[in-house]
Amino acid sequence: MPRRLTGFTPSGDLHIGNYFGAIAPIVARQQAADTVAFISDLHALTLEHDPAEVHRRTLEFATLLLAAGADPDACLLMVQSHVPEHTELHYLLECVAGYGEASRMIQFKEKSRRQERVRVSLLTYPILMAADILLYDTDEVPVGEDQRQHVELARDLAQRFNSRYAPIFTVPTAVNPPVAARIMDLANPSDKMSKSAPSPAGVLRLLDPPEVLRRKIMRAVTDPGTTVAYNPEAQPGVSNLLAILSACTGTAPHELAKNFDRYGELKQAVADAVVATVTPIQQRYHDLSRHPEHVRAILHTGAKRARDLAAPKVLAAKQAVGLVPA
Ligand code: ATP
Ligand code: MG
Repeated sequence: MPRRLTGFTPSGDLHIGNYFGAIAPIVARQQAADTVAFISDLHALTLEHDPAEVHRRTLEFATLLLAAGADPDACLLMVQSHVPEHTELHYLLECVAGYGEASRMIQFKEKSRRQERVRVSLLTYPILMAADILLYDTDEVPVGEDQRQHVELARDLAQRFNSRYAPIFTVPTAVNPPVAARIMDLANPSDKMSKSAPSPAGVLRLLDPPEVLRRKIMRAVTDPGTTVAYNPEAQPGVSNLLAILSACTGTAPHELAKNFDRYGELKQAVADAVVATVTPIQQRYHDLSRHPEHVRAILHTGAKRARDLAAPKVLAAKQAVGLVPA
């Protein structure tokens, strides 16, 4: 059974793009597939951050994953920093990675251009991500275009380590997230909906109150013209609304398009569907939030299970490079 791994960095707020693109697929496959889902809190430290926000969001994300249906008995759910093997393997992989290849990462170039002071960890972030992946013998990493290069680096590092020292790591593959997995920003449909979007106006957050979700959807940018058709190139705004409705209902977007004559009707239907999708998640989230000790206990158990997998892997890697076991 192939193992899949997905990380959620606690910077910004989770939105319906994260839900449909990453969380819902985890929940749908968790009984049939070997799944690792983790909060990548160490990755949040690569950029300027408020410590209190990282702390709050780490628990919020874990609670939201559970509220959305992640079953801690079926999938491995944990927090990256609770498993020190991530940083241990990170260092060992830094010793097989080149400075040139790290600085060629497109995301590093883009993010560092926007910073006044660039942290070394921003440069080495993809190597930590490689450690996240390789620690668990991950076969498949569902990622969008922006992360493909990082999975490619993880493959290169695994192959290099395996041929230079010993065949220890499974070589992972990047897989496409499910269709309709790329939800666009409602205010700017040429950009992906993102936790780090400059404005929240076009981002449907999982914890936005229903009236806020409705308002954002009713104000969504549509396209010149009035026909409702699914054509992401020519009509990105309307097509994105149809894609969201499709993700909520399971009906194909071009089928849905036939049901609407006007943009206003479509927006109303999208608002109803999004509110119907997130309301039960929000209710479970608020129930779970009343028992933070319960969420902590789940994360504690998850970290223990993760360490059982990760520790032998790190030990084997250490021995392969010549370190003497303690
Ligand atoms: P950031 O702006 O910080 O990169 P993000 O919203 O892109 O935030 P990530 O933490 O990078 O979120 O990704 C978490 C998961 O959510 C990944 O599996 C990613 O593929 C998925 N995802 C992110 N944005 C979308 C989107 N708009 N549509 C579908 N899936 C998405
Ligand atoms: Mg992203």
